[in-house]
Amino acid sequence: MRPDLSRADLWREDCYIAGVWRSGDERIAVDNPANGETIGSVPFMGTAETEEAVTAADAALPEWQRLTGKERGAILRRWAALMLEHCEDLARITTAEQGKPLAEARGEVVYAAAFLEWFGEEARRVRGEVLTPHASDRRLVVSRRPIGVVGAITPWNFPLAMITRKAGPALAVGCTFVIKPSEFTPFSAMALALLGEEAGIPPGVFNVVTGDAPAIGEVLTEDVRVGKFTFTGSTAVGKMLAARCAGTVKRVSLELGGNAPFIVFEDADIDAAVEGAITSKFRNTGQTCVCANRFIVHDDVYERFAEKLAARVGQMIVGAGLEGPSDQGPLIDERALAKVEDHVADALARGGRLLAGGKRHAAGANFYTPTVIVNVAPDARLCHEETFGPVAGLIRFRTEDEAIRLANDTRAGLAAYAYTRDASRHWRLSEQLKYGMVGLNTGLVSTEVAPFGGVKESGIGREGSHLGIDDYLETRLACIAV
Ligand code: NAP
Repeated sequence: MRPDLSRADLWREDCYIAGVWRSGDERIAVDNPANGETIGSVPFMGTAETEEAVTAADAALPEWQRLTGKERGAILRRWAALMLEHCEDLARITTAEQGKPLAEARGEVVYAAAFLEWFGEEARRVRGEVLTPHASDRRLVVSRRPIGVVGAITPWNFPLAMITRKAGPALAVGCTFVIKPSEFTPFSAMALALLGEEAGIPPGVFNVVTGDAPAIGEVLTEDVRVGKFTFTGSTAVGKMLAARCAGTVKRVSLELGGNAPFIVFEDADIDAAVEGAITSKFRNTGQTCVCANRFIVHDDVYERFAEKLAARVGQMIVGAGLEGPSDQGPLIDERALAKVEDHVADALARGGRLLAGGKRHAAGANFYTPTVIVNVAPDARLCHEETFGPVAGLIRFRTEDEAIRLANDTRAGLAAYAYTRDASRHWRLSEQLKYGMVGLNTGLVSTEVAPFGGVKESGIGREGSHLGIDDYLETRLACIAV
């Protein structure tokens, strides 16, 4: 069943290409992960339609770039305002297709709109430089120009924010955009396109294509007219798509998987650490790229932290996001649930002990009970692979060096967290933890005003902040003989 909306037309089941809503006979069904019911369908488009979208985006470039930054910014800010005006409807669409609790979905709408607002403001602040020349009869002017058409592919876990974090800076500087959302969560993207149209985005500037992921991906990574490819999703798919971009030497941004350590030192405020752990580990039912994946806890506070965390986790309400209060929704599908079960079984087989959860939940087929496991072996799968589910596994440490070594023992480098009251340790951790983002005494690092992104195999480039705009600009030099 579709969610009830105050504006029923925000529910769109068509793609959006060149400012036209496009249907198709071949379609993909989209299910609500909370109950398995089909809530709608979207066109199964492929190479031809993606090429059309790229053609439209390419054709729209000159007019879009003729606008001033202020004019483009005004459209982006109107788009953000419309998202906030229709926050409840957008949240209900997101919860229906993605499963997150409604309160979290509302939070995502606000977070997603903030990127449009922020980059709408930044649109006026793109600047170049005039350099001191190398010869008296030369002048050197460095300008920053929009890259052109941007191809984007996004995941299902933040169906709105993962799009606006890319579209905001791209459109702000004068790029145009073709997005393929996840097949699990296309309706948020379509509602976003409708509000963009209402905000005044001209035809061809923002296009949405759904369907055959490999075929769409091939066009977005190989078409010479696409100047930049930006991807958020799993590391394996990101690596494969980035390799394809090499053929046309496209600019590439990647926001990939994480494996976040969450370190609790002996001097930590344990209650605050437990709350931080809940935010970091259990937000979106453990399905965020910055989710704490491994809890590395000092021997002196291990039992206290574990007991308090288990008690807090035991109070969480598990249930469908649209049907009453809920802290934990379903996992996205049966495969995700099976992976969580495998990680739990593996941790227990290697000597782990359950303090909470450890089983499916009666709320529905894709629900898993929030889980805490102690005595997890450092070689357990949940220490080395993204669990992407509501499972907190705890390991012990004795020295700061040991904690840092355990934390850095991964090819991922997205987010890390640590709780400690020692201010000089804050400096050491921020320098020695090999992560793009380090949360110290906080379980939440994401905001539109700060750079979001990873090091090592977690990605290339940054989204958000004044740095987020750089990824959509290229540097040009004019060397003028005078
Ligand atoms: P995924 O399987 O890699 O899918 C991401 C996107 O790629 C989806 O739109 C998917 O399309 C598409 N895709 C899959 N195979 C493709 C192919 N062969 N060619 C072209 N496109 C293809 O990842 P996911 O399961 O949706 O998302 C979870 C992952 O994203 C996690 O690893 C998480 O850590 C990561 N993530 C990272 C960040 C960050 O900022 N670093 C943020 C959020 C999530 P379909 O869905 O249509 O198949």
